[in-house]
Amino acid sequence: MIPEMDPRHAILFEPVKIGPVTAPNRFYQTPHATGFGWQRPQSGAALRGVKAEGGWGVVCTEYCSIHPSSDDSPYAFLTMWDDDDIAPLAATADAIHAHGSLAGIELWHGGFHASNRMTRVPGIGPQVQPAMYHLPTTARAMDKADIRAFRGWQRDAAKRAKQAGFDIVYVYAGHDYLPFQFLSRRTNTRGDAYGGPLENRARLLREMLEDTREAVGDTCAVAIRLAVDELHGPNGICADDEGRDVVAMLAELPDLWDVNVAGALGNDSKSARFSPEGYQEDYIRFVKTLTTKPVVSVGRFTSPDRMVEQIKKGVQDFIGAARPSIADPFLPEKIRQGRTDEIRECIGCNICRAANNEAISLRCTQNPTMGEEWRRGWHPERIASYPKRDTALVVGAGPAGLEAALTLARRGLEVTLAEANRHLGGRIAHESTLPGLATWGRVRDWRMTMLAKLPNVQIFRESRMTAGDITDLNPDHLVLATGSRWRRDGVGVVGMEPLSFPNALTPDDVFSGTPTPGPVVIYDDEHYFMGGALAEKLARSGHAVTLVTPYPQVSGWTVYTDEQGFIQDRLMSLGVTLVTQHMLSAQGADYARITCATSGEPRDIACQSLILVTGRQPIDDLWQTLHSRPNTVRVGDCLAPSSIADAVYSAHRYARLLGEPDLPPRRERPNHRSA
Ligand code: ADP
Ligand code: SF4
Repeated sequence: MIPEMDPRHAILFEPVKIGPVTAPNRFYQTPHATGFGWQRPQSGAALRGVKAEGGWGVVCTEYCSIHPSSDDSPYAFLTMWDDDDIAPLAATADAIHAHGSLAGIELWHGGFHASNRMTRVPGIGPQVQPAMYHLPTTARAMDKADIRAFRGWQRDAAKRAKQAGFDIVYVYAGHDYLPFQFLSRRTNTRGDAYGGPLENRARLLREMLEDTREAVGDTCAVAIRLAVDELHGPNGICADDEGRDVVAMLAELPDLWDVNVAGALGNDSKSARFSPEGYQEDYIRFVKTLTTKPVVSVGRFTSPDRMVEQIKKGVQDFIGAARPSIADPFLPEKIRQGRTDEIRECIGCNICRAANNEAISLRCTQNPTMGEEWRRGWHPERIASYPKRDTALVVGAGPAGLEAALTLARRGLEVTLAEANRHLGGRIAHESTLPGLATWGRVRDWRMTMLAKLPNVQIFRESRMTAGDITDLNPDHLVLATGSRWRRDGVGVVGMEPLSFPNALTPDDVFSGTPTPGPVVIYDDEHYFMGGALAEKLARSGHAVTLVTPYPQVSGWTVYTDEQGFIQDRLMSLGVTLVTQHMLSAQGADYARITCATSGEPRDIACQSLILVTGRQPIDDLWQTLHSRPNTVRVGDCLAPSSIADAVYSAHRYARLLGEPDLPPRRERPNHRSA
């Protein structure tokens, strides 16, 4: 039976007018970074094209600078600085139009957020202000002539955007960027017509909306992206105060309101650990009561019922999404075809945000094809059949084993998946029980759902495979996805020499139920989520916990997932003692000895249970025995312990390339010869 759309979801497929243009449905991919920027236009175009193909009625670009005084290098951003920018961006608009969707472009000026590392133009802003990133530099205050020039840049960029074929042109006053800097009294202390009362602070924004409208005429829509709350309390823009007032003031000027919370992006795209689906609703709900124009917002929406509720309750007219469209570019199509169980739901882990913050190309834990559309030609829904009906045995059903089994089965191999445990999911089975990480279970659940639909897969639980078992089965292809275990010798990112901690525990011990009498010391020389999440779990269950790390910040790598501040705040509120810049050097009967990473000064802290969150070792005994067997590979943590995203990618890459040449990824050349 061919599934059909649930009639309750039909409302999501109604066309919506945005000024002079009409979106074919309510699925709106709000602007999000890709890591491609102006240097890799073909990669950007291919990525956006896949979103449109997947049914997003509006697909927007990432931030697109209007002038060299807004240069976010080394991060990847688009440029609309001169006519040479038109053709590369037209490729994106064309790729979106090819599927009948509207193309939006997010024109951007960062103000003192941009430190112009490439262009070396001094930064500008409403007032003299140290730049937010890439210190030490200071933006100068814009005078009247600067403001006139700035308005001209926005107009020129808007005209070029129209020439490139975009249907929706943004005025971007969110995420601490220049128009927002003018708007907020925290960052605007001017004494002229652009400072003081809100009317004055909103003047530039009003002028930009009018200028943009004038530039694009009556065939393009003008959208405003506004942070209605910067989460700084009464001193900043607040949804129940000036955020509301500014919407009321400008209510009918734009053709569309794209609203969210700021200040930094971390508040807007909060991870699942710190925000539930739809968490911005309380802030943005008022907007529709003040304007007749369509409203869009975000909230990591993956449930079609929740989306329908948003529309019916009158919270928004579109379902805005960045991350859900990254995790599943075909989310709208799956709803339209009644295949909602196949939606690959975003888990809210913010690995995509980390890519942006690390200035690398976009990647996603759930969707290993994201960012690979052009450079490898990968498609999230299509994959080449394998030419033979070979057999494959996948050993281990963690994220890597599940992904390998699924991708091989999609290619038509006869797949056997063997897992030692009763439960599937490997590390996810444990990690998704940590506070706030339940959504991570979706990595396992989606793959299990899809595997269950394929006739050519057999799954065996409680089946620990030995080398002998494997030799007896003798599959054509053997995939070892046996994972990793946490180290006991203290070797981590900073501490490279193995030491002896005879009574120390690891996260594996904690998950298998080993008692952890307090006081507990967690030593984190891994720096991702595990140390902080275990500290939270144990503190919540009443333990006295000290978290020690050689880094200057706890859970240091999570600055990239925009979570570090939230993690630290939570641990402090739970009473966890935080000790940074200290190495673990010894363990006694009731103490742990830690040493200042700078001075070498030792001190002892009370400790009954010491938990080492350091490096991981591959579980690769099967590989050591069988590696010379033909067509035998390791994938995921068994090959190189890393993030879940890397494990999924590793398995997908293997299965996708099976029988294909393993070529280097295509790179965009300035002369575009590689096209
Ligand atoms: P990854 O992230 O690479 O997928 P995980 O550690 O999450 O790694 O998963 C590895 C899985 O492999 C675990 O579920 C583990 O029980 C399973 N496993 C390990 N060794 C064997 C084996 N010999 N036979 C079957 N399953 C195994
Ligand atoms: Fe969602 Fe994580 Fe993918 Fe980002 S990386 S889209 S948060 S699943």
